[in-house]
Amino acid sequence: TVITNHMPTQELQALDAAHHMHPFSTQDALAKRGARVITRADGVWITDSDGNRIIDGMAGLWCVNVGYGRDRLADVASRQMKELPYYNTFFMTTHVPAIALSQKLAEVAPGDLNHVFYAGSGSEANDTNIRMVRTYWAQKGKPDKKVIISRKNAYHGSTMAGASLGGMSGMHAQGGLPIPDIHHIDQPNWWAEGGDMSPEEFGLERARQLEQAIHDLGEDRVAAFIAEPVQGAGGVIVAPDTYWPEIQRICDKYEILLIADEVICGFGRTGNWFGSQTLNIRPHIMTIAKGLSSGYQPIGGSIVCDEVAEVIGACEFNHGYTYAAHPVAAAVALENLNIIEEEGIIEHVRTDIGPYMKELWTGLMDHPLVGEAKIVGMMGSIALTPHKESRARFAAEAGTIGYITRERCFANNLVMRHVGDRMIISPPLVMTRDEADILIERARKSLDEAY
Ligand code: PLP
Repeated sequence: TVITNHMPTQELQALDAAHHMHPFSTQDALAKRGARVITRADGVWITDSDGNRIIDGMAGLWCVNVGYGRDRLADVASRQMKELPYYNTFFMTTHVPAIALSQKLAEVAPGDLNHVFYAGSGSEANDTNIRMVRTYWAQKGKPDKKVIISRKNAYHGSTMAGASLGGMSGMHAQGGLPIPDIHHIDQPNWWAEGGDMSPEEFGLERARQLEQAIHDLGEDRVAAFIAEPVQGAGGVIVAPDTYWPEIQRICDKYEILLIADEVICGFGRTGNWFGSQTLNIRPHIMTIAKGLSSGYQPIGGSIVCDEVAEVIGACEFNHGYTYAAHPVAAAVALENLNIIEEEGIIEHVRTDIGPYMKELWTGLMDHPLVGEAKIVGMMGSIALTPHKESRARFAAEAGTIGYITRERCFANNLVMRHVGDRMIISPPLVMTRDEADILIERARKSLDEAY
């Protein structure tokens, strides 16, 4: 059989359930109901096999920053495939897309983050980071500095190492995770865990868990701290204002490496090139992927500061992926960065659609189900609650209300994700005000129906 977009939806769904194993899904549920089949996309809209036009409040998986349907990216990919479809940068070779993209990333990255080690994805890049920071300390004569401190409910990928760095208990429960020498502290989620503390007190308390962990583990054993500037898959958790300055102080004081996982926050999402700039963080390494190519090609990497790159560069770093710095992916990523720059997409987020969306998003707080509403640039979350004043949770069936709301969004042609009792958005950055209005209208309708 030739399988095309024109086949009836049910046939496509049956074939899909029969042979395609989906990530983070229950295969039985797919067999019963069938997955939504996405056939095409343009701008902020995706279309399914029944012809529904759906507003993509998640930019795919937080990645299609410049929106769908960019001919420029397709053309660059086609040109590059014809000229040099594949080569690698192992063993004293290189190619122009790798050189040009690295130069561009060094230009847009803050401070002395001037060097790029490529990977095929964010997970792979975080694997690189673990090996890189441990190798860095070993090269400096401190091989015992191996422990990487991360946070509960963080998401850093699905590989053994990425999921170990991550703090998702559901992931740790499967497959023998975490790997050794990874330690997790609590996340700065004031709404759910702040108790009677003010957000400011709570931010400090959570940040100081890093200092406590360094004391407990031993300063001479801790290699690095890794965190997302704004925790994404954990529910778009925006830390209280006191949190990041204190984390920065602690990393500086104990001279541990700071890794900012910018896989979601990078490339305009928070209103700057990187979330680290928005939150005033000075990382030694940034993990990048997703918005780097707006998802048009799989590519990720680590942007590394001068000093770490120098130490690593002095030894042979026995690490690399076949598809790292893939010429087609690199060429597409570079063109994507050019689009972001030429169209002023970051300014659009910072000064236009970001503030507009913030007004609409925080306006949802008047809904009886919505407790807090948080948004940074174009990544936002709302906490669903049965009782706002006490910040009560839907305890007995945690997640159920989120699931119901997500299903209502689905029915109302809006992609909005849920994490437990938080609903989250991360739409394409090119969204217009009219489209933001539609997103909020559909979100409100879905909340009404879930209530
Ligand atoms: N880091 C963060 C912060 C992410 O959100 C993700 C993916 O969602 C990853 C790493 C993993 O990236 P990938 O799915 O490209 O492996």
